[in-house]
Amino acid sequence: MRTSGAPASDVRRRIATELADDVPWNRVLNSICTEPHPLGVEMASAAAHTNLGDVRIFRGTKRIEREVVRLLLDLMGNPGGSGGLVSGGTEANLIALLVARESARARGRLTGRPEVVVSSTVHFSFTKIFGLLGLTPVVVPVDVSLRLPADEVARRIGEHTVAVVATAGSSEFGVVDAVDEIGPVVAGRDVHLHVDAATGGFIIPFARELGHDLPQFDFSVDGVDSITIDPHKYGLANVPAGAILFRGAQDAGRFAVDSFFIDTPVHNTLLGTRPGSAAVSTYAVLEHLGRDGFRDLTRTNYEVTQYLVDGLRAAGHELFTEPQLNIVVVRMAHAVRVSQLLESRGWIVSTSKRFGETLRLVVTRHVTPEMVDEFLPVLERACKEATAEAAPR
Ligand SMILES: *Cc1c(COP(=O)(O)O)cnc(C)c1O
Repeated sequence: MRTSGAPASDVRRRIATELADDVPWNRVLNSICTEPHPLGVEMASAAAHTNLGDVRIFRGTKRIEREVVRLLLDLMGNPGGSGGLVSGGTEANLIALLVARESARARGRLTGRPEVVVSSTVHFSFTKIFGLLGLTPVVVPVDVSLRLPADEVARRIGEHTVAVVATAGSSEFGVVDAVDEIGPVVAGRDVHLHVDAATGGFIIPFARELGHDLPQFDFSVDGVDSITIDPHKYGLANVPAGAILFRGAQDAGRFAVDSFFIDTPVHNTLLGTRPGSAAVSTYAVLEHLGRDGFRDLTRTNYEVTQYLVDGLRAAGHELFTEPQLNIVVVRMAHAVRVSQLLESRGWIVSTSKRFGETLRLVVTRHVTPEMVDEFLPVLERACKEATAEAAPR
């Protein structure tokens, strides 16, 4: 740390210079997070000083958090449930499996080697979580449609199983597991079913209203015990805003830790000190957009997705899988080199470590048809150059 402080103007200038080097949203095609809604940003700044770790001080902010949880439970078809706002999908998934493990223990169902049945494309946050919670993954290969097959789930549930994880919108492909088939298979087996809807939670309810053929994935499906949903992705809220929701009114309290102090209630989430700004931002966006606003946003995202798919197909590209949500995965020779060339020209896309020769493009609020029009010619040039480089001289 410097001995004598720098003038505020110097500090501002330095930070502004670094922020200006961040990639502008209109060149970002790899991120499920997007430019947050302006009202969310404004309200998050107004609440920048708040801390939900101390609800005696921030009682108004706490009321907003409770209201956000209520709105999200309602969106997921379970007004009588419980939940909490957390830092994102990773923490939400962690709390879900912790509650699954502890409730198995409470029912005398916990063995020495607790297992969780997951698909081979489950989000990597679970790799962290299994290590932290001492859980063993039972990995079920996805089927040809890249989904977790319900019959295999049924086969893999055994005496050690404490939970099954289904995904409603995988981060790699935007593929939605048939939760409506997995739910009935898990219900009645005394096993916790968690649905990771970090990506799809703010898309699927509205896409279904618009007539897209997507499975039911929320608490309306028998057997679903908990859901992860991320306001800081398709919910347009400021980072860090995630949520964990439970079917039972008491479930969120199963992971409750007492603080040292009288009158300070228990902590239900992993973090202690945590930003009220995320809760406030989420509340502002949910209230301001309403169901109609989110449906419009979803319609636009699907239109832009189709526009991108049409453009890619017109240029002769083939999709790796038909997009269910707003993630487009293209088969692409020399994908890694193409991605590097794109980045050198300012565009950020992703390539998969596991599914080689594919390029992944995410459509969200900041992706417009104009942006697609600018991107496609740059992509074509990068493809040609990568092919030429790879050709034997
Ligand atoms: C983004 C994502 C996560 C992790 O969420 P973070 O907010 O990055 O912690 C988990 N699961 C899925 C399906 C995701 O898309």
